[in-house]
Amino acid sequence: MPRPLVVGDCWLCDRSGVSVMFLGPVQTDSGTAPFDACEPCVLRLEVRVFAYNTSGPGSRPADFRPSRR
Ligand SMILES: [Zn+2]
Repeated sequence: MPRPLVVGDCWLCDRSGVSVMFLGPVQTDSGTAPFDACEPCVLRLEVRVFAYNTSGPGSRPADFRPSRR
């Protein structure tokens, strides 16, 4: 099920007024906050998550393209 998009601020690229999706809570030494990211940033994260889950930390397969969207 696709995550809903809302208009907001991307916490990765700092763009405002863009379509973002909630990725989960982020925890830092300052506390916990909702973590939203825009679609281009989510796609970059998906590449990293895929690489981490298939080849381990630090790997980045060049041929991976997310299938959705
Ligand atoms: Zn972004």
